[in-house]
Amino acid sequence: MKSLIEFTNEGLYCPPADIYIDPWRPVKKAIVTHAHSDHARWGMKHYLAHHDSENILRLRLGQDISLETLAYNQVIDIAGVKVSLHPAGHIYGSSQVRLEHKGQVWVISGDYKLEDDGFSGQFEPVRCHSFVTESTFGLPIYSWKPQPSVMEEIHQWWQNNQSQQKASLLIAYSLGKAQRIVHQLDRSIGPVYLHGAVFNVHNALIAGGAALPELPKVTSDVSKEDLRKSLIIAPSSALNGPWVNRFKPFSTGVASGWMMVRGAKRRRAADRGFVLSDHADWQGLNQAVAATGADSVYVTHGFTSVFSRWLQEQGKQAYEVETLYAGELEENVEASANVVPESK
Ligand SMILES: [Zn+2]
Ligand SMILES: [Zn+2]
Repeated sequence: MKSLIEFTNEGLYCPPADIYIDPWRPVKKAIVTHAHSDHARWGMKHYLAHHDSENILRLRLGQDISLETLAYNQVIDIAGVKVSLHPAGHIYGSSQVRLEHKGQVWVISGDYKLEDDGFSGQFEPVRCHSFVTESTFGLPIYSWKPQPSVMEEIHQWWQNNQSQQKASLLIAYSLGKAQRIVHQLDRSIGPVYLHGAVFNVHNALIAGGAALPELPKVTSDVSKEDLRKSLIIAPSSALNGPWVNRFKPFSTGVASGWMMVRGAKRRRAADRGFVLSDHADWQGLNQAVAATGADSVYVTHGFTSVFSRWLQEQGKQAYEVETLYAGELEENVEASANVVPESK
């Protein structure tokens, strides 16, 4: 029997539906799992994604893209293939893609995490024969603490900085991590400001109906006194230029899964690292794979060889798949691709 999904030079392809999933080269029809720039690329004739991805896709790819949106669990028929989207828990609007054709079921995970962060939707295990999984943090050393304890660390750091009359500059990916943190933040501690790139994403999501508080963009009008009490959320690219100098004295914290690794904090020139990831940890990946009941698992971006070998040892048919998703580089992609216009 022919496989429902083929791994081609353009990306993951479903021949009977003539549609690609997160393709990295321009094609006619693309299903996009989420709006991160390595999964949602420019140049497709037609896009299909979840409702909640719409505003960010238009912000990043252009207001005039041809885009159809679906709700979670809404099933559409494309040339005999049943297509539906299911919560991936990665960022707002992120989806797994389920495809069913002649009794064959595939699920393509996109990026995902299992912990319900309260804002990005709860990952839904979907039964299938073949599962395509990411493996960004596919090593046993990656094990996340529950979100409330990481938020507690962030709050304490912020209060400690306040007592030293320092601003708190928190580095977080502008799509995903930033909103997740805003959503969980105890804003009674002090004022919260957003870097321009974070501000643009934030407001596009609010315009699309996301339950986020209105927050100001940080400008040169903010008083020194205010800054010393405040928490400012900015992407890592902000550290490269003179933009940060206006906040002196300040302390820098970075929220990322990579903060688990010794040395990562130093490389980012950060004072504090907070281990907070929007990807599944080792246990989460294993739990997700098991919950699908899939016989065949295709492992994409991340620690593909370690994770696929591990799954083989557990008796699964597992394969490494080469893709152009950035995986571990995701959080830097934005800085280099400059996909969101940044205010100076
Ligand atoms: Zn992503
Ligand atoms: Zn990814």
